[in-house]
Amino acid sequence: MRLTTILNSTLKFKGFVFKKCKFIEKQTDPPQLEIEVLSRKGSQGRCSKCNRKCPGYDHLSRRRFAHIPIWGFLVFFVYSPRRVSCPTCGVRVELLPWAIGKCRMTKSYCWYLSDWAGRLSWTEVAQCFRTTWYHVYKAIEMAVEWGRSRLDLDNITSIGIDEIQWHSGKRYLTLVYQIDIHCKRLLWIGENRSMKTLTEFFKWFGEERSLKLEFVCSDLWQAYLKVVKKKASQAFHVLDRYHIMALIGKAIDKVRAQEVKKLKEKGKKPILKRTRWIFLKRPENLTVSEDQKLAQLVKQNLKTVRCYLLRESFQRFWEYVSAYWAGRFIDRWTRKVMYSRIEPLKKVARTIRQHKPIILNYFKANKKINQGVVEGMNNKVKLNIRKAYGFRTKKAAEVQLYHALGKLPKPTFTHRFF
Ligand SMILES: [Zn+2]
Repeated sequence: MRLTTILNSTLKFKGFVFKKCKFIEKQTDPPQLEIEVLSRKGSQGRCSKCNRKCPGYDHLSRRRFAHIPIWGFLVFFVYSPRRVSCPTCGVRVELLPWAIGKCRMTKSYCWYLSDWAGRLSWTEVAQCFRTTWYHVYKAIEMAVEWGRSRLDLDNITSIGIDEIQWHSGKRYLTLVYQIDIHCKRLLWIGENRSMKTLTEFFKWFGEERSLKLEFVCSDLWQAYLKVVKKKASQAFHVLDRYHIMALIGKAIDKVRAQEVKKLKEKGKKPILKRTRWIFLKRPENLTVSEDQKLAQLVKQNLKTVRCYLLRESFQRFWEYVSAYWAGRFIDRWTRKVMYSRIEPLKKVARTIRQHKPIILNYFKANKKINQGVVEGMNNKVKLNIRKAYGFRTKKAAEVQLYHALGKLPKPTFTHRFF
């Protein structure tokens, strides 16, 4: 079977045909295969702007389009595009069904690379297919643009709003996820975490859809709280469990750091050294030696330990079923904290008191939304940002995140390369 026969059956372009194959043996590494594409005799080209069939005008010089490499050969389609004279658009280059705009990679190649980039890092994909990081990026950008413009935004009832630090913590990105039981995905990315950022999301999402939202999950960041209240006031505002536990975790961290310093100043034994994770981890995740160390620490009269025990007692809060009793628990717990004389934790208690109604929504919304999804998505985002080491621009990070977590639609091809 000839290679052109395979190509003619896997890729069907109306009005075009694959003709000759040629090895380019000019000591190129890797070796290259050139496949000549011809327009069918008597066929008319289509205007690249309005897609209408138009009479020909002239021919341009040969162009090469990179296609999926095969058996160690780089593959190129070679074609001399016609220019057509369109009655409405004037003289234009014809529409090439295998290419997008001025991109010199075929559509199939772009989709192929972007599919691989879902499994490997961009650099690895570039190495495997002997192309460049930039070409992989361009391919994914195409896939993301295609998918984003065909996004189905119907039936979204729950969203989660989250922020993430990037650029070594100097800047923020606001991320909005869909967190419905039937679909969890990244919906939108915006720069900063201001009211303006989130307002832009709602503008993109549309007023009608915003008014159909039933649950919005976020942290206690004021800008988010305000915008959600304004744009989706009908929705139940729920706080994610992990955001609240993270608040307490940060307080423990602060108390521990202060206490380490104090012990050092007083010339006491540095018993708190290398204990950070013991206090931040859940007890069930501790190793045997960490567990033993914790048992010793608990015997000491340390602020950090008291703080730790208060956090552990707060875990019981999530086991409540009734919002009423959970509310009573908050009252008791915050009272206890206020007597503790641990300033960072007292601050958390005040925040919890202030936002008690929203926190209690957790129980009213229970089982209707996926608690913990926001945390899971946040971890995936962090992993992708780390994987995308070297992304300097927001655009590249955005492309990577949408590609990995956006569940974007893809076209159906006549031939499957996977
Ligand atoms: Zn036209």
